[in-house]
Amino acid sequence: MKKKPISIQELDAKKRSASFDEVVLGYTEDEACAEAARCLQCKNPVCIQGCPVGIDIKTFIKQITEGNYAGAYSTIREKNNFPSLCGRVCPAEYQCRKTCVLTKKGEPFASEAAINVHFLERFIGDYGIQHKLGGQTARDSSLAEKKVAIVGAGPAGLCCAGELARSGMRVVIFEGLHKAGGVLQYGIPPFRLPRTILDEEINYLQKLGVEICPNIIIGKTKTLEELFSEGFSAVFLGLGAGIPGFLKIPGEELCNVYSANEFLTRINLMSAYQFPKYHTPINIGDHIVVIGGGNTAMDAARCAIRLQNMQGMKPDTTICYRRTEIEMPARRLEIEHAKEEGITFRLLVQPIEFKGSENGFVHTLSALQCELGEPDASGRRRPIPQEGSDFDLPCDQAVIAVGLGANQVLTSVTPTLKTDKWGDIVVDPETMETSIPGVFAGGDIVGGEGTVIEAMGMAKRAARSIVEHLKTKQ
Ligand SMILES: Cc1cc2nc3c(=O)[nH]c(=O)nc-3n(C[C@H](O)[C@H](O)[C@H](O)COP(=O)(O)OP(=O)(O)OC[C@H]3O[C@@H](n4cnc5c(N)ncnc54)[C@H](O)[C@@H]3O)c2cc1C
Repeated sequence: MKKKPISIQELDAKKRSASFDEVVLGYTEDEACAEAARCLQCKNPVCIQGCPVGIDIKTFIKQITEGNYAGAYSTIREKNNFPSLCGRVCPAEYQCRKTCVLTKKGEPFASEAAINVHFLERFIGDYGIQHKLGGQTARDSSLAEKKVAIVGAGPAGLCCAGELARSGMRVVIFEGLHKAGGVLQYGIPPFRLPRTILDEEINYLQKLGVEICPNIIIGKTKTLEELFSEGFSAVFLGLGAGIPGFLKIPGEELCNVYSANEFLTRINLMSAYQFPKYHTPINIGDHIVVIGGGNTAMDAARCAIRLQNMQGMKPDTTICYRRTEIEMPARRLEIEHAKEEGITFRLLVQPIEFKGSENGFVHTLSALQCELGEPDASGRRRPIPQEGSDFDLPCDQAVIAVGLGANQVLTSVTPTLKTDKWGDIVVDPETMETSIPGVFAGGDIVGGEGTVIEAMGMAKRAARSIVEHLKTKQ
């Protein structure tokens, strides 16, 4: 008889939507063992193909069933530096769970029956933190004299740093912000990724000897050439896609129309949700409209409704998305959580104008209703606005979450660094080397917005090439 998937404990929706406490509570030991016991231990474990860093999923799950949690931790760490983190944010329904044989063929996402690999990974990652496991030592002492600079402390930069430090070389990360983590620090809210977990994963790198230098913007504070003249033998660029996209519609310049980047950075990096204990404030409207259907939109809306609740306001947060729910790129779990927390979904909606009062503040969003047409270049069905379907929504605060572009601070002052028409860095896809010898890149700055684990996959490939480069070409 097929065993039922073990569901995960979560905070009650009403309580959690008035706090920034972590929503998903994780498996207990018994629950993790019961879920692991459902794994079929396939001869050909196709789940591994769904993992961008190739974790040996079959083995670590078997180790859980044997009670060998330390072994499971080593198996995961062999491929993934940040199991507690990935276990919380990976869109497993598009990745390892989708390729699990328990997912029915042709399903757009993983079936419910698929093994909850991400929750098991989280269980083991947290076990490793609680039991102070980890800290593999340097593999190759011949590289001890080599020094590599990493630009950007997001998942790509952190992962590349970890791989290189484990290879035995000196690694220094330069980060423009005052805290490491990239989107994990300024974008993803603590109710999805507690900062204690992020700190633990970063501490692990520091224990490996990685040095992190915050508040340094490469391309402004110092140039790429200066890094080489300071003795770095190679550089990895993990600059991310930190530039917000906009709708380019009238009224977008009105007060209280935020980019999701600014909204989330104020709340998450600068702790505006704890204002006035922390100094950064954030405006919170009576009728908040978030535009977009990705993780950024879900995060912005879920922060917004929490702040309305925390300030004793009547919660009124709406997500407007121009396609239907199935086309939403957000993780399925975030969509479910957003609905449970009381966020209204207005689908097939195309914003056309923000209207404001004389004092310059937004009060209304005008929009058109859409229908879905043929698929576009993204493979998703194109939204077609319907003539005469215009309507108004009360909106005294808007958050635009319609995509992010390349951060060009460094590329714009480094003409020999080849970029494409979107400003992303061009690399050799096998080696991740850029047009400048000895300079490698990965993560969202290569190929645009992706996922944490995809950024880490590219960073690992780059790290292998850097080791090769330092051994053969230096
Ligand atoms: C709100 C939000 C929610 C998301 N949710 C998920 C999720 O649930 N699951 C998932 O898998 N993915 C999610 N993503 C996508 C994921 O976070 C990104 O794909 C990932 O962070 C990319 O990693 P990165 O290291 O390339 O870039 P980033 O995380 O953007 O990090 C880049 C870092 O480089 C620094 N930097 C840039 N230029 C310079 C410079 N010149 N000098 C010094 N430092 C510099 C930046 O300050 C930043 O810290 C989300 C993205 C957003 C915005």
